[in-house]
Amino acid sequence: MRKKIVAGNWKMHNNVEQTDDLLNELIANVPTETDTQIIVAPTFINLASAVDHLEFTSIDVAAQNMHQAESGAFTGEISADMLKSIGVNTVILGHSERRAIFNETDALIANKVDTALKHEMTVIFCFGEELKDRQNKQHFNVVENQLRDGLFHIEKASWSNIVLAYEPVWAIGTGETASPDQAQEMHEFIRETVRKVFGKDIAEEVSILYGGSVKPENAKEIFSKPDVDGGLIGGAALKAADFVAIINAF
Ligand code: PEP
Repeated sequence: MRKKIVAGNWKMHNNVEQTDDLLNELIANVPTETDTQIIVAPTFINLASAVDHLEFTSIDVAAQNMHQAESGAFTGEISADMLKSIGVNTVILGHSERRAIFNETDALIANKVDTALKHEMTVIFCFGEELKDRQNKQHFNVVENQLRDGLFHIEKASWSNIVLAYEPVWAIGTGETASPDQAQEMHEFIRETVRKVFGKDIAEEVSILYGGSVKPENAKEIFSKPDVDGGLIGGAALKAADFVAIINAF
């Protein structure tokens, strides 16, 4: 049975105090009897405190990014070993904002994936087409290429550490959501693409999250689709009540 996951990407929001407040609200309100894995991804400086806060809860902590090198002269960067040393075992890689604003290429993301896997971290691998790709009916090609160039070099055994997050760029932070049918159509395609290269067992086991303006109002319908195994949530993850309502939508 593949895992159901709801992950919150807090992006560059919330200082230390605001992060503590949000964590406390989540601790008080997230359902304890749930088969859904809950993950939050605060900024780097708030990671250690989040790990401390959440130690005796079922909520896991992820980083929003990391550098591909082990260490060295990379001013401003954070390594896998540093994350692991504070108890962070999961990292979001390839988010569309990293790709678009920080020029991360598939090749660079592939490198980061290798480093994270070498450190036995779980990777939430983000990918998704832009609006122009969908308008030009290239969305399946774009998604397939991102998977092949950024991820498909890994060994079969590494798939137990991979979570896929399909995030159409046109739906991120725009209020625009892929319809549940559009999400299902793409998730089915993604699972089939994984099956062709890595086989049925891996394709059936990998969790594929949808991301792009998921809110309490639309979560239930999106999550009801057979190939949607959860969500990566941006804006709505910043309000405890909305994030909890999205978890409860499962
Ligand atoms: C995201 O940034 O991963 C995301 C899905 O954002 P939002 O939910 O705000 O569209």
